[in-house]
Amino acid sequence: MSRDARGVVAGDGVARGSLRYGDLSIVGCSRAGEETWFRVRPPGLALDVGRGPLALTGVSDVFLSHGHLDHTNGLPFLLSQRTFQGLGPCRILCPTAIAQPLAALLAAAEALEGATFEYRIVGLSPGDRVQLDKDFVLEAFATDHVVPSLGCHLFQQRRRLAAALRGASEEEVAALRRQGHEVSETMEELSVTYCGDSGRGVLTTEPRLFGARILLLECTFLGAETRGRGERYGHIHVEDLVEVKARFHNEVVILHHLSARHRPEELRGELERRAPQLAAKLVQLEETPWSA
Ligand SMILES: [Zn+2]
Repeated sequence: MSRDARGVVAGDGVARGSLRYGDLSIVGCSRAGEETWFRVRPPGLALDVGRGPLALTGVSDVFLSHGHLDHTNGLPFLLSQRTFQGLGPCRILCPTAIAQPLAALLAAAEALEGATFEYRIVGLSPGDRVQLDKDFVLEAFATDHVVPSLGCHLFQQRRRLAAALRGASEEEVAALRRQGHEVSETMEELSVTYCGDSGRGVLTTEPRLFGARILLLECTFLGAETRGRGERYGHIHVEDLVEVKARFHNEVVILHHLSARHRPEELRGELERRAPQLAAKLVQLEETPWSA
């Protein structure tokens, strides 16, 4: 699988990183307390919306991990842009606990704009599934933050010959199909896992994240002086990752949400020294021109 990760400055002047991995493209931008958003194609999904980058205007499905404004504040602006450009309805997937305040925020924005936005809020609980397009289904899971929060898995679905028919001839399969029998089955591959803001608890409660092809995981702190902050504020410290370094079976690990007090190179250097196998999978979208 080819991997091409780079930092770019887009047409709107916002520095961001991008990753191409096989058929998947991920563009994003993340700094603790400033903004976090990613766009994943396919299926065409926003993972949080930061302060509302134009790169997300064309996306009709939005997953919000929690209500903190560095992840959600751009939503009214994006819905406004979609309305003026006639881009059609937008589906917003979020923790059930924030559905009502989010609706109130959007209603206020509509009043300010004198416009009606086309959107639907879908509150999710851990385990809930939503079909995104014909190939991808999203499943929510619990994360470990200081406000109601969720992460999500993106499963890619493929049809294949039913296991019971393996070894059957083409003629036999065709005959069964003609008789109205189901000859195929759906298999799912965990393509992408996204943890928004989360403390180390998610590493225990959601072990499936270690098996995703591409894992987007926050890592906010490093260094002894910030060791206690992770638990206090519901964020991951690099020490938490070193402790479970053997469990990362992912092909790519995107660590995001680094505190502005740290440089991306410091995080990479720490992992290269103490968890080289994890460092080899590491992509940091913050390694872009604005932090160089
Ligand atoms: Zn947060």
